[in-house]
Amino acid sequence: MVEPERVAVLNDAPEREGRYVLYWMQQSQRAVFNPALEVAVAAANRRQLPLVVAFALYDPLPQAQRRHYAFMLEGLADVAQELKERGAAFLMRRGAPEEVIGALVRQAALLVCDRGYQRAQRRWRSAVAAAAGCRVLEVEGDVVVPAALASTRPEIGARSLRPKLARLSGRFLEPLRRTPLKVTAAGLKLGAGLDPADLTVLDALSLGRRADVVTAFRGGHREARRRLQRFAGEVLSHYCAARSLPAFAQVSEMSPYLHFGQISPVEISLAVRDARAPQADRDTYLEELIVRRELGVNFVTTTRDYDSYDALPQWARRSLQLHARDPRTHVYGFEELAAGATHDPYWNAAMQEMRVTGFMHNYMRMYWGKKVLEWSATPEEGHAALLRLNNTYFLDGRDCSSYGNVGWVFGLHDRPWPERAIFGNVRYMNAAGLERKTDIRDYVDKWLGNRLF
Ligand SMILES: Cc1cc2nc3c(=O)[nH]c(=O)nc-3n(C[C@H](O)[C@H](O)[C@H](O)COP(=O)(O)OP(=O)(O)OC[C@H]3O[C@@H](n4cnc5c(N)ncnc54)[C@H](O)[C@@H]3O)c2cc1C
Repeated sequence: MVEPERVAVLNDAPEREGRYVLYWMQQSQRAVFNPALEVAVAAANRRQLPLVVAFALYDPLPQAQRRHYAFMLEGLADVAQELKERGAAFLMRRGAPEEVIGALVRQAALLVCDRGYQRAQRRWRSAVAAAAGCRVLEVEGDVVVPAALASTRPEIGARSLRPKLARLSGRFLEPLRRTPLKVTAAGLKLGAGLDPADLTVLDALSLGRRADVVTAFRGGHREARRRLQRFAGEVLSHYCAARSLPAFAQVSEMSPYLHFGQISPVEISLAVRDARAPQADRDTYLEELIVRRELGVNFVTTTRDYDSYDALPQWARRSLQLHARDPRTHVYGFEELAAGATHDPYWNAAMQEMRVTGFMHNYMRMYWGKKVLEWSATPEEGHAALLRLNNTYFLDGRDCSSYGNVGWVFGLHDRPWPERAIFGNVRYMNAAGLERKTDIRDYVDKWLGNRLF
């Protein structure tokens, strides 16, 4: 059963007569372990109606690139296939959710949607719910602990959120039962839709071409589960020891799948909790997946301008301001950064990994972010450039974790450190740390070839 704390009613309208129950899939892009889908299935069975799952393919989003949409369509192709096998209809149409879902909801008895935390996602849900004319239920399926239950105020860091999540998470770490549909949607006439398996759809969309499709990651729940099984079975038992080695990453690479809702964080948590790996590895992984990830959700849900420099803690902005005129040995603009054309081979290698794969190892992300702060003319410019690089090239960009972690580079969720040039009291990182703690030479070799050593 879906925990009642995951479900919210978004409007005052009642259920009504209708041809189907409609699930507007947006954040939780999966047909497996999806509480919004299971709530919609239960409603369809209760009303003796078929289930229609609809997706609005909306492209004019800032920084959206071909790589993001290709990955998303691969995931939606899995969804379409799995829903068909289950007896539900899947319909994808191009347009804003207000238009696509607004048209389909007219014949629906009830609308179910999933929960998204960011500004556009909240705006879409308010607009759709206000105009729906029938009851709209929202189901929160992409966190372990529902965000507002964990905390409704901005947490100062992992240390203040951790005990709150620890008290609650056990209740939400439960498998999700899959209920069969009673009425098939096979005969339902719905009109034309787009086929997510047809990647030529991408050519019609107005997407950025700076970051083209990647081959390192294939989207979809099937691929996410395959990687998860491999990780839990073969890699997790080295997680503590080897996760800071970026060249031969012993990490799960789940973040792109989580970002698109292609896998549930509860499904991952259960697989890790029950894996045959030392307790320390399992605990460390769950700390990242639950505490660090949900800290980003807390930041976005409790901070109005979560994507702006002004959302950073006051102590950090004040300290960075005091050092804004400190001389910089190197200053780079966005294009030089994007090209990976700095004086620093470690940084350029990280940028190369990001451009080629749409991913970067966590340890390198920290170094990569700190150097953008160090090499920007002002901290405000550094914040804007870092967020833009992050959201353009990472498959997992434009995520709550993007805003939380780019913020971390500038002091968010951290404490003041001894004062130094440019950084003030914000934590600093240098190349010597990489050399001491990681396999950085292999990493550079891997991404830039042996030209440098
Ligand atoms: C400057 C900077 C930018 C970042 N940008 C993003 C981003 O755009 N999108 C994104 O999802 N993550 C971002 N991160 C967080 C983290 O680096 C990635 O989530 C992680 O590297 C993903 O790899 P993985 O799935 O193999 O992680 P694993 O080590 O296998 O961890 C498992 C899961 O835990 C979560 N997690 C791990 N580390 C963090 C963290 N520091 N903060 C929040 N959640 C975490 C992720 O969901 C991850 O998939 C950023 C970190 C930094 C320092």
